[in-house]
Amino acid sequence: MRGELAFLPQRAPMLRALELAREAEQAGEVPVGAVVVREGAVLGEGRNRRESAQSALAHAEIEAIHQACQALGTWRLAGCQLYVTLEPCPMCAGAAVNARIQRIIYGADDPAAGCCGTAADVISLPGTHQAELYRGYMEEECRTLLSRFFQSLRAAKTENPTPSTLPPKSSPA
Ligand SMILES: [Zn+2]
Repeated sequence: MRGELAFLPQRAPMLRALELAREAEQAGEVPVGAVVVREGAVLGEGRNRRESAQSALAHAEIEAIHQACQALGTWRLAGCQLYVTLEPCPMCAGAAVNARIQRIIYGADDPAAGCCGTAADVISLPGTHQAELYRGYMEEECRTLLSRFFQSLRAAKTENPTPSTLPPKSSPA
């Protein structure tokens, strides 16, 4: 794609998205962070709050897009870039398309739910706004954060197994 060659992602918004992802991790959430920028100005920021909010809607991108809409006073985020540490899910890729986000820049692929071409492609549906895509930006930093989080989850499970994984109690004599 011709535009892809001309476009250079910026480090600062992705570094901020990584910072937000680390905040999420410290709060016990899957570490995902997102930032919406336009012409270098940050318009919205978000991080995963699914557990604390107990809401399936509380994804980083939704929060960042919502803030940017509030900041601009419009649902149309034309000319805006969404930086996010993990490939957006169906809901968030859909929100970016609905908000007319110009370009999505993400770090790590999500083979399970990534909807920018990995598991499915929500951003190139015919007849809808077409968001441009830059995948794999600062991928290693983004991926490391996620894999570290899931490793420590698994380690915690091994240390404190759930009752179903414990050996059966011996019957009283
Ligand atoms: Zn999402």
